[in-house]
Amino acid sequence: MAYDPNNIFAKILRGEIPCNKVFEDQHVLAFHDIRPQAPTHILVIPKGPYVSHADFAETARPEEIVAFTRAVGLIAQQAGVEDTGYRLVANHGPDSHQEVPHYHVHILGGRPLGPMLVRVD
Ligand code: AMP
Repeated sequence: MAYDPNNIFAKILRGEIPCNKVFEDQHVLAFHDIRPQAPTHILVIPKGPYVSHADFAETARPEEIVAFTRAVGLIAQQAGVEDTGYRLVANHGPDSHQEVPHYHVHILGGRPLGPMLVRVD
């Protein structure tokens, strides 16, 4: 799947629409999810044009991957959910219900999150 430069996170990265930022460095931006599903619901995105985790893992430079992975842990720590616990979610493709085709990791926490998946069938 080709990267769509008009996706909403690309627009946030270009400053065309605002976000509630919690972290930024050379490779990474993180902001609060606009429709939070837990008291802590932060989205962490690489600044490069990657569609999904698979795309990021295959094509990003090693320093981007290291920066992103470390940022996720640091942001969770700064959000205060390190001790109580949190869940990382990265949706990929239609079955996962991925809405935004720019790679992102959800950090979810701040309350007991229950079982990992709810059955829908
Ligand atoms: P996913 O389904 O994994 O692609 O998740 C996309 C997430 O982006 C959803 O949780 C949305 O609530 C969130 N989202 C969409 N637009 C915005 C926005 N403008 N600012 C912050 N979060 C957003």
